[in-house]
Amino acid sequence: MSENVLEVRQVVKKFGGFRALDGVSLSIRPGEILALVGPNGSGKTTCINVISGLYRADEGEVVFQGQRINGLPMSALARLGINRTFQIPKPFKALTVEENVDVAHRNIRAATPLVDDPLAFVGLDDVRDRMASTLNSGQQKLLDLARALAGAPKLLLVDELAAGMNPAELTELAAKLREVASKGVALLVVEHLMGFVNQLAERVIVMNAGKEIFEGSLAAAAQDATVVEVYLGG
Ligand code: ADP
Repeated sequence: MSENVLEVRQVVKKFGGFRALDGVSLSIRPGEILALVGPNGSGKTTCINVISGLYRADEGEVVFQGQRINGLPMSALARLGINRTFQIPKPFKALTVEENVDVAHRNIRAATPLVDDPLAFVGLDDVRDRMASTLNSGQQKLLDLARALAGAPKLLLVDELAAGMNPAELTELAAKLREVASKGVALLVVEHLMGFVNQLAERVIVMNAGKEIFEGSLAAAAQDATVVEVYLGG
């Protein structure tokens, strides 16, 4: 038995002849926060899309809690305990904020709740009765996070949550995500804001052109000549 929640092994994802993921391997343990960073177009979101079942890997294996999950649809993966947020959230605009979370929760009947009240947890308590269409973009991202948490994930995939938030909000959000991890949830976080990554992740993987070019601490990444050249230096 592996102690990793997730193991991605040599995954290739092609779009036509283009290899968006060109042999990516990574693993995450329960309670760990791993950040995926790297320049635009390096394959970070594609990686989340493959793990969450939105896309199917062309080669390689995705193993969740010891089970090969290649090709399973997102709904089945959500029931197993893989939930995600989206770079551009798409709430049900004709529903209230609270109804949006209830819908997510109802899809996962057997789960014991991870947090009692996902909306209060993410700080949207006072807007729960508003229509989702009235939320600003930062609030929509928090709603997306609340929906993912309502699914009681064992693996939470977070795609660029921090964009558009101010420093105080980022610090609060980082603390919330660390609290989620402290409950044993593994987090894979795609993020551009290094200040936020620094508050969040002990380990980062730097990607470039569909491949990993570095794995280690953010501090060590900042000292790595290749990483600085392709990403941090720009
Ligand atoms: P990142 O998240 O690191 O910015 P992405 O994973 O979004 O990068 O994209 C990696 C590469 O794959 C980019 O060149 C992008 O244009 C391409 N790509 C991603 N999704 C698709 C798609 N559905 N169809 C065609 N190309 C795609």
